[in-house]
Amino acid sequence: MSRTNVRLANVKSATCKAWLKSLNLHDCNSRKLTLRNNSACEAGEMARAGWLYLGDADRVQCISCSGVAREWREGNDPLLEHLAQFPWCSLAQRRNKDRETISEAGEDKTNFEKAAQVIAYPLTEPAIPAYTSIKERSKTFERRPR
Ligand SMILES: [Zn+2]
Repeated sequence: MSRTNVRLANVKSATCKAWLKSLNLHDCNSRKLTLRNNSACEAGEMARAGWLYLGDADRVQCISCSGVAREWREGNDPLLEHLAQFPWCSLAQRRNKDRETISEAGEDKTNFEKAAQVIAYPLTEPAIPAYTSIKERSKTFERRPR
C-alpha cells in the first residue's frame, strides 16, 4: 500500500504524526478515520472535500493543495469553505464540478419525467373545451364521489 507523500503541516503530537504517516491519506476513508469527532462538520463530508485532521483543535489540511483550515462552525460546507480559502485547489474544483454534474443530472431526470408524462397523457383537444384550463379541470376533483 502506498503511503501519503503529502507534506504535512505542523502536527503537535508525535504519535498523531506517526499515525497520519502510516495511513494512505489519498484514500477518502482513511481521511475520514482521522476526522471522526473532530469537527463541527460531518467526517465523511470533510474527507470528501479533501480534508484530514492534524490532531489539535479543529485544524485540518487538504491532501491536494496542502492548505490548512480551522475554526469550523456548525453548518459550514466543507467543500465551499475549501473553495473560498483555496480557490486554486484542483481537488476542490473537481469535487465542486462533480457536485454540479450530479445536481444537473437530477434536474435532467425531472425534465425527462415531465416529458414522459406529456407523452403519456396528451391533452390537445379535450371533449369539453373548458377543460383546457387547469382551473376548470381542478374543479372536477371537488365534484368527485368520496
Ligand atoms: Zn485543497
